[in-house]
Amino acid sequence: MIDYLEIYTFSDQPATCPKCGSRTEITLDLFKTPEQTQHHKCLSDKCGYEFVIQKDNDE
Ligand SMILES: [Zn+2]
Repeated sequence: MIDYLEIYTFSDQPATCPKCGSRTEITLDLFKTPEQTQHHKCLSDKCGYEFVIQKDNDE
């Protein structure tokens, strides 16, 4: 378990950087695994923030 990245809950919105709102790239897609997470990195040169999105299974 990676615990140094902040984890956000997946929503219907396209993923954007929680810090600056820029678009992000997917660095690791684990949505098809039991972990159900997706790692993103901000595309802004000034930011570069990395974070994890987790699917919300509490529907
Ligand atoms: Zn950013």
